[in-house]
Amino acid sequence: MIYSVIVDLSAGEVDRIFDYKGEGYKIGTRVLVSFGKRQTEGYIIDVKDKSDYDESKLKEIIRPLEDFPAISEDLLQLGGFMREEYHLRWADVLRLFIPAEMRGNRVRSLSRQQVCLATQDSLDVILDSLKPNATMQRDLVTFLYLNGATLAETVNSEFGNSALRALKQKGLVSSQDIVVRRTPYKDLNAERMPKRELLPAQQQAVDAVLADRRGKFLLHGVTGSGKTEVYLTIIDKIVAEGKSCIMLVPEISLTPNMLRQLRGRFGDNVALLHSGLSSGERYDEWLRLKNGEAQIAVGARSAVFAPLRNIGAIIIDEEHDGSYISDFNPRYNTIEVADYRAEQNGALLLLGSATPSLGSYYQAQKGKLKLLQMPERINRQPLPKVEIVDMAAETRRGNKGIFSSLLKQKLAETLRAGNQAMLFLNRRGYSSFLMCTKCGYVAKCTDCDVSLTVHRDDNMLKCHYCGKHFYMLDKCPNCKESSFRQGKIGTQQIEQLLREMFPDVKVLRMDADTTQTKESHGKILEAFRNGDAQILVGTQMIAKGHDFPKVTLVGILDGDQSLHHDDYLATERTFQLITQVAGRSGRDKDVGTVVLQTYTPSHYCLQLAARQDYVSFYKREISLREASAFPPFSEIIRILYTGEKEKDCIDQLTEQYAELADLKSRHQQAFFYLDKMRCPLKRAENKYRFQILIKLRIDSVKEIIPQIYAVCDGKTRNSVQISVERNPQNLS
Ligand code: ADP
Ligand code: ZN
Repeated sequence: MIYSVIVDLSAGEVDRIFDYKGEGYKIGTRVLVSFGKRQTEGYIIDVKDKSDYDESKLKEIIRPLEDFPAISEDLLQLGGFMREEYHLRWADVLRLFIPAEMRGNRVRSLSRQQVCLATQDSLDVILDSLKPNATMQRDLVTFLYLNGATLAETVNSEFGNSALRALKQKGLVSSQDIVVRRTPYKDLNAERMPKRELLPAQQQAVDAVLADRRGKFLLHGVTGSGKTEVYLTIIDKIVAEGKSCIMLVPEISLTPNMLRQLRGRFGDNVALLHSGLSSGERYDEWLRLKNGEAQIAVGARSAVFAPLRNIGAIIIDEEHDGSYISDFNPRYNTIEVADYRAEQNGALLLLGSATPSLGSYYQAQKGKLKLLQMPERINRQPLPKVEIVDMAAETRRGNKGIFSSLLKQKLAETLRAGNQAMLFLNRRGYSSFLMCTKCGYVAKCTDCDVSLTVHRDDNMLKCHYCGKHFYMLDKCPNCKESSFRQGKIGTQQIEQLLREMFPDVKVLRMDADTTQTKESHGKILEAFRNGDAQILVGTQMIAKGHDFPKVTLVGILDGDQSLHHDDYLATERTFQLITQVAGRSGRDKDVGTVVLQTYTPSHYCLQLAARQDYVSFYKREISLREASAFPPFSEIIRILYTGEKEKDCIDQLTEQYAELADLKSRHQQAFFYLDKMRCPLKRAENKYRFQILIKLRIDSVKEIIPQIYAVCDGKTRNSVQISVERNPQNLS
């Protein structure tokens, strides 16, 4: 037979199918093949009778790497889709489907010795055959009689290994090797959780979903409305029907809560897939899913590739979260992938959020997703009160500090009452906008209505979408003052200020500096939850999915930093962040307070977020998107060129830009614009960065995208990496 093999090397020039000869292999099997002068791993993606090449020259597959196909045929098909949709290399896509350590044979199943009685005789008979003074042997026999097969290491530590050895010699005890599974987060297994009586709103949502097993749904439920219970009930039903489920969460180490609940309800039927596990654990969890030992996969975005068959439901919690869009190679959109897998398997797709992404809500408005709503918190608990503080007014009153007087007062009250507070700096990227601290004016692009970015080196203001340049302002065009805000506040600075204001209070800080290691996130949050500190200061990292019962105050110090970020998603992200943050506060009995500091207090985003009025926000924002032709009314495509040689990058970009300009001239109406520029982040990891930005009409995307990809695949240089992003999350 002839096998089509993808060699597991991700260099661009080998992104092709190679034919090999062999016999008896299944599609999806990983194999060892010789490639050039070396041996390499590869994946069989197809079998055929004839090759297009001279068959006498084809090499034989050396051997299989596992005795089972690592990748199922439906995942291979998904891989084909992703490759075309996102312009990815085969090897990069296929690697997503297996635990990383399987490559290069860096992980194996763990086997252990197990011992048990080798005779069917009754306990009395066995004991009679042993000397009365052989206490250890007698105890061990009794133990095995009562407990059955037990790991040798357990037996040895209890009864000593000489007893075991003696019994084996007498033929009374036998041993065998068994495969044991390494279980991550074992201690989360603890309590068994009963099913809850659903509230009417939850029941309605569940009924609607279960009424259409191939449906696609968007569950819009405010924070604390009980979405988790809806997910669990649906999973329960689907699993009972013999199908499997995938449950995605934005970041599992930040949501141990979800895992605790899933394990509590479904025990060992849940397997966890995420990068924080040890390689052995990850491999074992993957195998449990693959072998059907577990039917429920839970994890962050990569769990969408869980090796499950017969999937009945894919559920994506906090569907608006940016982490569902992979922004490094291989780049893909988890929701689109989930949608494809759901179609393939005839499964239902359920997206849930308190603040759905504008794109998803738009799909719901157009009837592509069925909208389900849960507008109230469980027990009708009120949503926290959000107080907007006008920082420009504070400045005018002479308070030039970082903390408004209201926030200081609320902090003092909270600490006095023995409660906890969280303080956020919602910062994104590194860019800086120009804002007047007297009136809150922010400099914006006249065409795109996104905030302009200050470029200190040439003292210009630039739009990151259309490339327009503006002169730096020396006076505010609105209030004629020249009091522009400079620089940014840092979390460390805030921690320091808090120490000065409240010397006796313990403060924890969470930001990129304090979370270098994988577990540090979890540790800081755990310490805060245990009450080791009264104030937690952090970036948006601390906003996600947590339930801290003692937090009654949340302060958002810099409500403008994310709002005026230089991208069209800034308002949406800010709305989501404030709503999520506010949802953290006052989950217990006490009603929470949120203090939101801003220089632009009347901005609709902040006003509506304070009222948690998602629908009004959606209406306003979607009409702005339509007017300025941003997604979902267009698609933005960025082609990124990076490399150590600046000139090579520029040459590469220039050549492809010319071809794209030609494409544009032939399809004028498809393009809103096409531009080339240096990236705002000019160099990273020792590489220069340049980009081409394209905005396409939404109805032209299908036709134009393949042609853009074809340009990128044209004449390329090895010294320049080219990647394409569709609707990138940031343009840095
Ligand atoms: P969401 O995910 O929508 O923010 P959660 O799922 O965290 O909300 O639920 C909020 C709280 O309500 C949790 O403490 C949960 O245990 C509780 N809860 C959920 N459903 C019910 C129910 N049917 N009866 C009683 N309590 C519930
Ligand atoms: Zn612009």
